[in-house]
Amino acid sequence: MTALPLEADWDNAPGVLEGARELQLTPGDCDLPYWLEHVAGSMLRRLTDGTVTAGAAAEAARRPGPLRDALVDEFTFRTLAEEKAARALSFLVFHAPDRDCLEFFSTQLIDEARHARVFREHLVEAGLSEAEVAAAVVRTASGSGAAVLDPLEAFGLHVLRDQGDFYGGVLVLTVLVEGVLAPAAELSERKWRLLDPGAALVERGANMDEIRHLAVGSSVIRQYLTERPGERERLLGLLQEGRRLWEKLPMEEVLFRRESLFQQGIAEHGELLGDYEIWPGRRLVDTGIEERMTAAERWSRETQEARLAHMLLDGAL
Ligand code: FE
Ligand code: FE
Repeated sequence: MTALPLEADWDNAPGVLEGARELQLTPGDCDLPYWLEHVAGSMLRRLTDGTVTAGAAAEAARRPGPLRDALVDEFTFRTLAEEKAARALSFLVFHAPDRDCLEFFSTQLIDEARHARVFREHLVEAGLSEAEVAAAVVRTASGSGAAVLDPLEAFGLHVLRDQGDFYGGVLVLTVLVEGVLAPAAELSERKWRLLDPGAALVERGANMDEIRHLAVGSSVIRQYLTERPGERERLLGLLQEGRRLWEKLPMEEVLFRRESLFQQGIAEHGELLGDYEIWPGRRLVDTGIEERMTAAERWSRETQEARLAHMLLDGAL
């Protein structure tokens, strides 16, 4: 048994913001033996053997009302996003240029399929019936899913499936999908910590995986551009195309709706939050919709910039 790496250690893994910006891992570091030992054999095992547990959700998060609606709105969106990511990853596995990439992206595919499951399962734990979860997922799929996730998926599949472009696909997934969503997930982990510790734990686990995905994805691009600097222009063009797409997507509306429901929830149940701080010096109970959205947006921009610099693509956004 080799020493537990920091990023797979529940007690010591960095948060998304530092981890997603600074951690350096290659596909060779995170191959199948790594995943089987440290992710399946340790990180996930500690969830099932009960050494890592969450407290109970506040009653308020389990009763019908805006707080639970906020959770349903967010977690149905997440489950759909994760499922699309898992499907798209099958093309990265197919086009993997070497064994390290084949192994790493196979593990990422399983991670994303697992995330799709845990977000969905958590809604059952929050008191919805299976049928209610299924109906809520369908509703979100035809609303924010169709507005945001479907166009993103179409863009990713054009690169991955239609063009068979492995490196373009890694870039799209790392920068335009995971790089954008990971900081929102960090916000979520902090928002739910007291109101629904189970939800926060689901986010934390997924976020620990995301840190690995972001770190490895960006080192794949870095390595590629080190060997093939002539490809830089082409990848920059792809990023710009993706950024233009993002500008057209109503992600702000989706986040506004999510945070509005959450705001109604804290207006109703703020006493549960006490002096809990969402970030140093700021009590969650005092925050507003725009303030949380702005923070997540800034985290997202800073994370992307740090990752792009590591990929030798600085200045791209
Ligand atoms: Fe994921
Ligand atoms: Fe991921």
